[in-house]
Amino acid sequence: MLSQSPEYLLLLKQQGHILEAANEMIATVSLDQRLIFLNQAGRQMLGVSLERDLIEEPLYVADFHSPEVYALLSDHVFPSLVKNLTRWKGDIEFRDLNQRAIPVHLTVIPHVDDEGKVAWMTGLAKDLREVNALEIQQRLAKRVFDNTIEGIFVTDAFARILQVNRAFTEVTGYSAEEALGKTPRLLRSNHHDAAFYEKLWAEVALSGSWQGEIWNRRKDGSVYLQWLSINCLKNSRDETEYYVAVFHDLSELRAREAEIEYLVNHDPLTGLGNRSQFRDRIEQGIRGGAGSHSRMAVIKIDLGEIQLINDSLGHACSDFLIKEAGSRLKDLMSRRDSLVRLGADEFGVVVSDVRQMLDISQMAFDLKVQLQAPFIIGGETLYMNPSMGISFYPDDADNVEDLLRCARTALQEAKATGRNTFCFYNQDMSIQSRDRLVLEQALREAVLGNGLSLNFQPKVLLETGKIYAAEVLVRWRHPVLGFISPAVFIPIAERSGLIAELGNWVMQETCRQLAIMKTAGLTVPPVAINLSVYELERPGFAKHLMDPVIKFGLDPGLFEFEVTETGLMSREEAVIDSLKQLRDAGFKVALDDFGTGYSSLSYLRKLPLSTLKIDMAFVTDMTTDKVAASIVKTVIALADSLELEVIAEGVETTEQQMMLLDLGCSKAQGFLFYKPLSVDHFRDLLVNGY
Ligand code: C2E
Ligand code: CA
Ligand code: CA
Repeated sequence: MLSQSPEYLLLLKQQGHILEAANEMIATVSLDQRLIFLNQAGRQMLGVSLERDLIEEPLYVADFHSPEVYALLSDHVFPSLVKNLTRWKGDIEFRDLNQRAIPVHLTVIPHVDDEGKVAWMTGLAKDLREVNALEIQQRLAKRVFDNTIEGIFVTDAFARILQVNRAFTEVTGYSAEEALGKTPRLLRSNHHDAAFYEKLWAEVALSGSWQGEIWNRRKDGSVYLQWLSINCLKNSRDETEYYVAVFHDLSELRAREAEIEYLVNHDPLTGLGNRSQFRDRIEQGIRGGAGSHSRMAVIKIDLGEIQLINDSLGHACSDFLIKEAGSRLKDLMSRRDSLVRLGADEFGVVVSDVRQMLDISQMAFDLKVQLQAPFIIGGETLYMNPSMGISFYPDDADNVEDLLRCARTALQEAKATGRNTFCFYNQDMSIQSRDRLVLEQALREAVLGNGLSLNFQPKVLLETGKIYAAEVLVRWRHPVLGFISPAVFIPIAERSGLIAELGNWVMQETCRQLAIMKTAGLTVPPVAINLSVYELERPGFAKHLMDPVIKFGLDPGLFEFEVTETGLMSREEAVIDSLKQLRDAGFKVALDDFGTGYSSLSYLRKLPLSTLKIDMAFVTDMTTDKVAASIVKTVIALADSLELEVIAEGVETTEQQMMLLDLGCSKAQGFLFYKPLSVDHFRDLLVNGY
């Protein structure tokens, strides 16, 4: 019999081995649902020990299913198998002997006997737990890949892009279709040189990865900074199979960092730096100054009155005021100075590289003047009462805390002194600047009140000494200090902006006095009035000068305006236009202190002049100094060739008088003839015919 043959026995044995070696469960089941055979994989899956003899200790289909699943098998699956002789496949649940659920994919195959009836069945079960775990893992990985906010792309060993995620598209602008098959060169900006990329790839080759910041270019051409990490994935033979690149856009992060930086260091209302920046700048100054001889000033400014304005006019108003104050202060800063807002109505300034302390008192003075100018807000005119405190590094302190404390102390002192002032922490310096301050304050009152007066200094014909005109000179008598020279207070008026009011007052008062003379029946003499170039720069100045002339019914031809040569030369062409406006209004223009500047002939030609006024210094020296004499001579010749009048000022001796006459100058002014006279005195002269 075949069944007895050794080949057949070998075959059986081999088949037995195969069944046992299979990875999946294989079982044979009799028609009464008893397990006849269960291979090793099946025993492992179902918790049946390998030693268990299924004849001695039988197991049934029902032992491996919940009642519901078993009902399905015994009522439907098996009957239909028996009936139709077809195999059945489906995903169902097993229960192992410990009652643990095992999802499987089950195939049941019916086997027939010689009569064609089903005699037994084979069950093949694939454990779905592993399959499921793998699938879940893959799906999860895909989800992470797609949804991570970092851009990811994977390339093959030749750097051809195989896969990109959604963030890749979002950051770079390239869709998957556009990117696949390309190399990362697609993303390159020209921010890096070839050496950069060489180094990058060398490192990847050496260590298997690279990380760093890199500038790349989006599809729309914009360049952005990203953090990139590249890893190479190797196969078992240690050859690179894939490169995985993960990146995120740093530009937004950087912008946010910058924004936070800005917020931390700036005042939102004025856009100026804040307290924290103030300290930083002082610290920087100290670090920069250490070892060098450079000096730094720390200024604290208190606007004063803000609380009052806040309470009476509201926040919007005080906010506006603070902004306006900030921008006025800002205008006075050089690029190296830092202006910050320290608090409600407090500002701070750090001035590094201070050469002279006097520069700082000038600056504080200017800051104060700016803040004292009226603020016009919503139709209201408001005035601040600023106070300032100043400390110096390294003179007063060598650290941030102490410098701030000194400035604060000085500020307190300024406030205590009655505001509208500034104090240095170091007292010696205060005195100088406070003098200046007191003067300005008093001058302001004099100009606005009735503290100024006029002098008239007659101009005479050199030959006869006869008065033909007069120069108007302003006088200020300080209530305590007495008469103060215009040489002292005019510069103060110029710097504080008071010069405009002062000039207006001089013009008004001159016209008023001339009108009085006219009414008294006197021949009104021509007058010369000094004009500061600052006045010429004021818009509408010609009208300001003309108004009182009209008001008092005077002839513009009586007025000559003296402008200094040096003042003019430092100005722009615009000033020349201003002078032309004067001439067009019928006024005359004289160049004062002539010879002290360096006017060229061509420059003089451009000016609408009527008179050159030889500076007193040359007149004084001309009799003893040949150079001075020849300058005087030249000026006279120059005036002659330009068809201008010439007058010598500061004539004090007859010797000078003679020499000037000799040189062909016929007009003069000086103590030899008359000192500046009070208005009454001057009028008396006119009345009495000199
Ligand atoms: P300046 O225009 O050169 O005025 C002439 C100055 O020399 C006057 O000084 C006058 O008193 C003085 N002086 C006149 N003759 C003699 C003399 O023989 N010997 C000496 N030693 N001095 C003489 P003052 O009045 O002190 O004016 C000084 C400067 O102040 C003026 O120089 C002028 O630049 C300016 N100033 C005077 N009044 C006004 C004004 O109303 N407006 C403007 N913007 N500046 C004025
Ligand atoms: Ca003059
Ligand atoms: Ca002069």
